[in-house]
Amino acid sequence: MAKQYETVIGLEVHVELATKTKIFCGCSTEFGGAPNTHTCPVCTGMPGSLPVLNKQVVEYAIAVGLATNCTITQYCKFDRKNYFYPDNPQNYQISQLYLPICRNGGVEIDTPAGKKIIGIHEIHMEEDAGKLVHDEWEDCSLVDFNRSGVPLIEIVSEPDMRSAEEVIAYLDKLRLIIQYLGASDCKLNEGSMRADVNLSVREVGATEFGTRTEMKNLNSFKAIARAIEGERARQIELLEEGKQVVQETRRWDDNKEYSYAMRSKEDAQDYRYFPDPDLVPIVISDEWIERIRKAQPELRTEKLERYKKEFDIPDYDAEILTSSKVLADLFEATTELCHKPKKVSNWLMVETLRLVKENDMEVEDIDFSPENLAKLIELAESGAINSSVAKEVFEKIFKEDIDPDKYVEEKGLKSVNDEGALRATIEKVIADNPQSVEDYHNGKEKAIGFLVGQTMKAMQGKANPGMVNKILKELL
Ligand SMILES: [Zn+2]
Repeated sequence: MAKQYETVIGLEVHVELATKTKIFCGCSTEFGGAPNTHTCPVCTGMPGSLPVLNKQVVEYAIAVGLATNCTITQYCKFDRKNYFYPDNPQNYQISQLYLPICRNGGVEIDTPAGKKIIGIHEIHMEEDAGKLVHDEWEDCSLVDFNRSGVPLIEIVSEPDMRSAEEVIAYLDKLRLIIQYLGASDCKLNEGSMRADVNLSVREVGATEFGTRTEMKNLNSFKAIARAIEGERARQIELLEEGKQVVQETRRWDDNKEYSYAMRSKEDAQDYRYFPDPDLVPIVISDEWIERIRKAQPELRTEKLERYKKEFDIPDYDAEILTSSKVLADLFEATTELCHKPKKVSNWLMVETLRLVKENDMEVEDIDFSPENLAKLIELAESGAINSSVAKEVFEKIFKEDIDPDKYVEEKGLKSVNDEGALRATIEKVIADNPQSVEDYHNGKEKAIGFLVGQTMKAMQGKANPGMVNKILKELL
């Protein structure tokens, strides 16, 4: 009988924190910007410059630790991780090895077999490196230090995941928690959330772990799922051929759906970690932790329960709306303005998500204002515009965040509610279509649909459909 294998997966997730300034200097963390404009002697590693810790970084790390059920290390320190690379001007990265800020936590995920806890080994704070730009025209490499010193937390899980589905569920849960806390926007496509996958396989029933590899360069949930499938198959094939898996770092090429060896995996000892002498240890008091705990915003589970109670919307709607902080914020702000929760929910769940999908966007990229959606709902509900016009206007709001009142006015899209004008048009439609009128009188209900259609056409789509129906029935 063929051997059965089990996949064992642990993740290292890097998250860029949403602070305004870098972790050890006052430079801006803003994404983009001309190369090397968000820099100073500290984040370019000039001799004699001294780092000063950004307090907000510690607060975000504690907040994420509390929300993921970790123990906070109340006496923690920074260490130097020594290595040479051109994007790392100090020749060491300031990180945490011996006393990371959070330890021994976990989050619960849903699996087909029920709930499961994925353990979190630790969360540590560190600085990001700069970025190399390889210029093929000039045949040289350039370095941009704008990202150097941007604060990161690295969340290291236990090897508790057994499939790509569990990995995605875990990442989704982490992302939601961190977004709700406001600690990061967690955009995989912009690199503010990045996952390295440690994977090994072993025969079902074995208690020892197999040799693991680490995969980097994964920037979407789909790429992560494919990389896991690909690497699992590669390792099983090696074992089946009686070969050994080599412990190494591999780069996943999502286009070729194959991973390539980058370098043999270093151990922590290769980095000659030692306590950073420029930074004093951080003492975190009980009061400080309590203050952060109390200031914790409403997280997903609580929000979900509140939505079910407070708004008259189906449970399904509440699930979808709270599945993203961006959607939930938009829902609440729009409902606050127009007091029609179910209508707001419909616009978000149907038209908004359809357009997100059609434009190949992430929900996080939605960028229209609640004011404009609220105005559109008012226009549609008052009968000022009909439903097909409303959809057309919404597309403009989604793309350009236009003011629907102005747009409808300028384009002359208001429904015609003038009974006299409608009646005149309908009389003409009836006179022009005697066959349909006869069909209607002979009991063919469908014929009225055709007459409504003809009226709408004559009114260039701007008639109020309710009134058209009413007047038609009267005249017939
Ligand atoms: Zn700086």
